[in-house]
Amino acid sequence: MLALQINNLVKRYGDLTAVDGISFDVPEGEFFGLLGPNGAGKTTTINSIVGLSTITSGSIRLFGLDVEADWRPARRMVGLSPQEYNFDRYLNIRDVLIYQAGYYGFHGKAIEARADELLERFDLTSKAKQPYTRLSGGMKRRLTIARALIHEPRLLILDEPTAGVDVELRLELWSFLRELNRGGTTIILTTHYLEEAEELCTRIGIIEAGKIVALETTRKLIGERTLQDVFLELTRR
Ligand code: ATP
Repeated sequence: MLALQINNLVKRYGDLTAVDGISFDVPEGEFFGLLGPNGAGKTTTINSIVGLSTITSGSIRLFGLDVEADWRPARRMVGLSPQEYNFDRYLNIRDVLIYQAGYYGFHGKAIEARADELLERFDLTSKAKQPYTRLSGGMKRRLTIARALIHEPRLLILDEPTAGVDVELRLELWSFLRELNRGGTTIILTTHYLEEAEELCTRIGIIEAGKIVALETTRKLIGERTLQDVFLELTRR
């Protein structure tokens, strides 16, 4: 089963082509990394997958469901941990999770229990009644992941999940993500940290200027390519 199928995706913002005909598949259970420089089109691709951005042309399927034609069931398949914090500052963080579930049509005691379980798992129980503005940066990062998981998506997408977090929390998040992936959740991650992709991902796609320029297993890409392509420029003083 393929978790994600992207076929010739194009996204234009006016005259700017942010995503220029990319195609790739992610099988269920994979931990996939999307790398690329600033402005390459990673977030635009992700936004197209989760329905935050309309598609100019091409198609995207999540577990066989077309994200435009079958948008409602398709959206239930995926959870997004975005790059920027977009929580409601007037809600306590437990309600942030419960309200998020409501967008997917889930409510009641089962969701409250799930919210409490996620708060516990992310070490946020003591902050359950606080708004997100009272959390530390690392806690906010953990909350974005908890929120992405509230409706038990089969695919989790993380847009730069460890940007700006300290080394200890980064290692903690890595171990949590590995465990989640072992439990069967497919994960797609964007990152600027090569060591993060190397540590977590089985395959890596590299986007540059809206095009996929490499797509290999991590071992092949990092082992054979990066380490061999080291250029030293020596200048005389
Ligand atoms: P970063 O690593 O900096 O997050 P990225 O690879 O995620 O970059 P995108 O955010 O997808 O890159 O941006 C791709 C291009 O699309 C950029 O040139 C950006 O300025 C442009 N872009 C993104 N969102 C919009 C928008 N809403 N309107 C117009 N242009 C946009």
